[in-house]
This record gives sequence, structure tokens and C-alpha cells, in this order.
Amino acid sequence: MPITPRLLLGPGPSNAHPRVLAALATPLVGHLDPQFLTLMDEVQERLRRLFGTQNALTLPLSATGSAGMEACLVNLLEPGDAIVVGVAGVFGERMCDVAARAGARVTRVDAEWGSALSSQAMASAIAHVRPKAVAFVHAETSTGVLQPVEAIARAAKSVGALVILDCVTSLGGIPVTLDAWGIDAAYSGTQKCLSCPPGLSPVTFSPRAVETVLARKTKVQSWYLDVSMLARYYGGERVYHHTAPISMIYAIAEALRIVEEEGMDARAARHRAAAQSLIEQLAPLGFTPLVAEEVRLPSLTTLRLSERIVAAGEAKVRRKLLDEHNIEVGGGLGKLAGTVWRVGLMGENAREENVRRLVEALA
Ligand code: PLP
Repeated sequence: MPITPRLLLGPGPSNAHPRVLAALATPLVGHLDPQFLTLMDEVQERLRRLFGTQNALTLPLSATGSAGMEACLVNLLEPGDAIVVGVAGVFGERMCDVAARAGARVTRVDAEWGSALSSQAMASAIAHVRPKAVAFVHAETSTGVLQPVEAIARAAKSVGALVILDCVTSLGGIPVTLDAWGIDAAYSGTQKCLSCPPGLSPVTFSPRAVETVLARKTKVQSWYLDVSMLARYYGGERVYHHTAPISMIYAIAEALRIVEEEGMDARAARHRAAAQSLIEQLAPLGFTPLVAEEVRLPSLTTLRLSERIVAAGEAKVRRKLLDEHNIEVGGGLGKLAGTVWRVGLMGENAREENVRRLVEALA
């Protein structure tokens, strides 16, 4: 069955850039071919720049964002270790689940969905538990909140804890400066603000995080995600670990070149302008933003629905947008189901013409 193209304005995936799609069609070479290894070096160096880090262990993990989350948690935690997790939406919840499955003792600090985590509440839990690690989400895709990072990272550092940050919906849309913030491990995904298909999870581990992995008493429970083994392929040795997904590496290489050609500051400004325009143009149709302006995420806007849309059945309206206008927007997740829409203006899609297409279709 032929696939009808859609404008993907949901929580991800977003549309891939045409240059990225063209890169996917590049002829395959072997995963140990010198040309491919040079390309992998380029990707790793560009990822370091985009993450704002000097971390040697920075690589595109061969799996989606959830595997990046799992890689950070299962490598840094051993059974019995304590972790404090900030939970302000679905992805903070998921971190708790992954950490608990790794045998960690999880202390969660909850925030109202649609609000940011309280730095004070996080700091007092951290001071009380003195955990091995602290984890939270930079850009909560389930609520549309952009979490301030520095105060929580400082509180974690003050007790010597490692800091783990989810950058899935921020990398490539919002400036990320991991070393300046004091982050030890972070992960992202390709299908949001990088305008690349889903399939890779850029991850990075600080030297201190790597030392922690190397000093483990127990083996990492996941063979595939054990970064001490991955480091031998993605580091200098290039020892076979698994077959790298060649075409996706072509794709992310092109996506990262496009980000650098535009420049992160211009890209962030474009995301902010598109989100602002969306909110202004949808206000007359009765949509209001869920999240306070100070912590609103530009790449994903959560909108409370107008009475007309609730009365019409919000899922039916979304289906109509898809069937008749080829536009996808996201419904609410978890506690927000049925009450909000999540509109992603991510990567290439963060443009006025897409805002107009959605507003015209809704009008
Ligand atoms: N973390 C956040 C903030 C996300 O938005 C997502 C996906 O939407 C994930 C993690 C999981 O990524 P994936 O669905 O690529 O496994």
C-alpha cells in the first residue's frame, strides 16, 4: 500500500530533512570500512559539539531514545545503589521503572504534570538520600515543560552524585551544554529536533561516569548496552561489537551537518519563534497553553483544548486532521489524556508555513 506523506506535528517522529532521506540511500559499505570509520569519527565529533561536551565516550547508540535511557541507568547503577529521579511526566516515570529493574533503590520527587520539578524539593531529597545518581528530563515531551538544569545538577554534585539527563526532545532544538551544567551521562534520539528518522540514540558519558562503569563489582545486566564493551568499537580500537546500522549513520551525519550549517543559536531562535506563533494563532480558536511561559518547551507545545473540540471528541478531530489534511498532532498522555493536544514543531518542522497549515486546517 502506498504511504501518503504527512506533516508530522506530534510529539515525534518529526519529518526528516530531504537531505537526510537522500543520505539514507547512499550505497552500503562495511561497518569496519575505513570510509565508514572516518564517518563515525565525524558523527562522534559533531555529537560532542552539539551536546556541549568534551566527553570521549560520545556515540550514536544503535537503538531508539529509550535504549539511551536504559544505557545510562544500567551502566551507572548496580543492585542496591540509590538514585533520586525527578518525575514530572511519562519519561521521568519510565526512568524510575528502568532504574528499579536494574535493582536500584529509587527515590522519586514528583511535580505536577505541566510544571517543572522544584529545585528545592530535588535538593532536599538529594541531601537526605545522598544517592549515587540523580536523573531527570530536560524536555518532558509528555507535558511540554523545559526543565531548568543547573540548580539540580549543583545539588547532585554537592553530595558527589552522578547526574543523568534526558535530552531526547531538546538536542538540536534547544542549546544543550552538558559540561557547563555538570552532567555525567545524557542521551537523546534522532527523530525529534534532528529531523532524522527514529533509530539511533546519541549518548555521552563523562570520564567520571566511565570510571564508575569500570569500577563496577557486577557485570552490566545488558550485554548490548554495556558501554565498556561499546567503547572498544566507538573508541580507538574499533573492535567488532555489533553491526552498526550503516544507513542510519549516513542519516545522522547529514542531520548533524545541517544543524551546524544553520548554527544552534539560529535554530533555537527558529524553534522559539514557531512555538510563539503557534500559541498566538491558536488562541482565537480557543486553545490555551498548559505550561507557564518561563518553563515552556519550544519544540513541543501542550495546548488545553477548546470546548468545541472537547464536545466534538478530540480524538475524532485529530483523526480528521490526519485523514483530510495529512497533519498529525499528538493527544495527551497519561494524566493529560483527553484534555490537551501536544503539537511538536521540531527541527525542520519549526517553521511559520507549518503553523499556518495547521491553523488553516483547524479553522
Ligand atoms: N525520553 C523522552 C523525553 C521522549 O520524548 C522519548 C520519546 O518520545 C523517549 C525518552 C523515548 O524515546 P524512543 O521513543 O525513541 O525510545
